[in-house]
Amino acid sequence: MSHIGSILKRKIMWGNILFFSLVTLLGFVAAPVYIGLAGISLSELLLFFFYLAVTSFSITLGYHRLFAHTTFKANAFVRFLALFFGAAALEQSALEWSSHHRDHHRYVDTDRDPYNIKKGFWHAHIGWLIFWRHQFHFENVKDLAKSRLMMHQHKFYALWAAGAGVLLPIIIGALTGHILGAVLLSVFARLALVYHATWCINSVCHTFGKATYDIDSSAKDHWFAALITNGEGYHNYHHYFPGDYRNGVRWYQWDPTKWVIALLAKMGWAWDLKTVSRFHILAARLAAENQRMAARLETIEPHHSVTLKTLLQTQYDRLKQTLSDWEHSAREYQDVLRRQIARYSEAHKQAAFKHEEARRRFQESLAVWKSIHLLNLPF
Ligand SMILES: [Zn+2]
Ligand SMILES: [Zn+2]
Repeated sequence: MSHIGSILKRKIMWGNILFFSLVTLLGFVAAPVYIGLAGISLSELLLFFFYLAVTSFSITLGYHRLFAHTTFKANAFVRFLALFFGAAALEQSALEWSSHHRDHHRYVDTDRDPYNIKKGFWHAHIGWLIFWRHQFHFENVKDLAKSRLMMHQHKFYALWAAGAGVLLPIIIGALTGHILGAVLLSVFARLALVYHATWCINSVCHTFGKATYDIDSSAKDHWFAALITNGEGYHNYHHYFPGDYRNGVRWYQWDPTKWVIALLAKMGWAWDLKTVSRFHILAARLAAENQRMAARLETIEPHHSVTLKTLLQTQYDRLKQTLSDWEHSAREYQDVLRRQIARYSEAHKQAAFKHEEARRRFQESLAVWKSIHLLNLPF
């Protein structure tokens, strides 16, 4: 098959239009009216925030960073939770989502990018779901298709989605005496919020914000988008280094998805967390900054631009050289440290072995000495 991933065909998707209208109306209008009239109980509030958190993390941590980009590995329980509550977000099966998303990265800003920003802000936000039909070939997700659980979620997606996303919150609502609250808040308001937050990555983050690492990319870093998407808003970084389990790499950046993955790793539930070296990240940032400076120079200092341009180029070359020297010496330092630890641990092992041997020999001679006492010889 020549095509990889999905193909778009223009078609008005009436089912999706009706469904998203219903979600928006009930989630953003009926739910606040309900709270205004009936108030909100603690159990309704807790269920709403629980569902908001688990479904949004299942998309960011599960669908996006674990499945679509395989930036880390996780145990079966974590993968099951990501598939279960991922289905509850009603954003297609993990297999379809990943196939779309891998196409988005591979063919970004072209016709084969399912949420191509060149077709406009609203196309990237929601238009791609309501005015286009997508055909799948799944050739770009063969690695994921090997998982039986993943395929089960894909084949029986409607059951997973209805069970996890609609039935379970309604059952919990019934048990706590608030069915209507559960339907309006934990199903519809929660769905509406997670939908728009997810879509903002495709629309807002491909329009507004800073191109921190790659100035030619349409993807941008936007703090507000990060705030509403558990850290997915650092999208320029993510497009440049999609294999990194982090999206916000600076210490002050809001990336709870990264924190949860690190916590899972501490618990032993996740491992093989992939990261890009800090030198590569810094090199990319400096290159982008230098390009920006050169462009600014071109516009504000036309008379001196030749001398200044040469100066900037010389200093930037020097900067690159010193960075590469620093990286080299850091690697050497790490090597020396590693060798020393290995040597130390070998010496430690030998001393521990000797110590154990000496203790064993003492205990043997003690046993022999004791056995002489037990003989009760007449002296
Ligand atoms: Zn993107
Ligand atoms: Zn991505």
